[in-house]
Amino acid sequence: MNSIELKSRAKINLSIDVLGKRDDGYHLVEMIMQTIDLYDVIKIKQLDTNDVVIKSNSSHIPLDNDNIVYKAIELLRQRFNINKGIEVFIEKNIPVAAGMAGGSSNAAAVLVGLNKLWKLNLTEQELQELGLKLGADVPYCISGKTALAEGIGEKLSYIKGLPKNISILICKPNLFVSTKDVYQGLDLNNIENRPNNKLLIECLEKGDIDSLSKNMSNVLENVTSKIHKEINEIEEIMMANSALGSMMSGSGPTVFGLFDKSENALKCKDILLQQYSQVYVVSSSEKGVEICG
Ligand code: ATP
Repeated sequence: MNSIELKSRAKINLSIDVLGKRDDGYHLVEMIMQTIDLYDVIKIKQLDTNDVVIKSNSSHIPLDNDNIVYKAIELLRQRFNINKGIEVFIEKNIPVAAGMAGGSSNAAAVLVGLNKLWKLNLTEQELQELGLKLGADVPYCISGKTALAEGIGEKLSYIKGLPKNISILICKPNLFVSTKDVYQGLDLNNIENRPNNKLLIECLEKGDIDSLSKNMSNVLENVTSKIHKEINEIEEIMMANSALGSMMSGSGPTVFGLFDKSENALKCKDILLQQYSQVYVVSSSEKGVEICG
């Protein structure tokens, strides 16, 4: 075997709370993550030379050593003393810099893919420990599913997820949001509307998506929506079109809405497409990285 193809899935947040900040600058969080069926395809090919080559259909991501995929390859090459060359093609479908962990999930897919290709036999937990060196969301992206993430996002407790029959409408406005700036704009001593994660987990367990939707909260939304009025505008459009609830994912600017009727989600998608180009209707997924074929 000298090539492998994987699905690298995006996530949305059903909640985000920020509890504090570590001395090294990382924020302590308590958030619910949900993988969705929107994915990049990662094609990994062994090379005869020892080069690392990254290609993509997207012009929005770096193709040099700034790409997190490059860092994932180098991490494994150094750790296991491997000098084989690798080419990775990233077929980008997940909006970039959107609050959907696109980069982290690409890194997760490369760790899983190279583990197989190079027969490293690492367990999921070992891959997650390595992934944490690349980014706080990488361990979660390896496993996917629905999880309460604590610590800096790496302490994962798996919980019941969104039912498959709930349509998730995703809208990524065409604006740039820096995750670093959003966290810096958060006043840790003055946080309003913290999510009640215990209640949200109970709602998921009971399948009470109506209550879940009404109680979703992301403390970063206040910061991002003050700068970009589009966040609240998209939420209003979703709510006016029968969404059960609507919220910003991650540090934004992606906004999602939960719908119990797919026809309402599709109708709202058409309305949003009049103003925004990156609009998708998806469902939840129980897988993070998945090997194709
Ligand atoms: P998170 O939710 O983990 O904060 P995000 O969805 O906000 O992630 P990404 O799509 O991961 O953001 O992109 C963040 C930055 O990382 C972008 O500015 C992009 O240029 C850079 N980047 C590096 N490698 C990748 C990659 N493979 N895919 C996407 N972005 C990448």
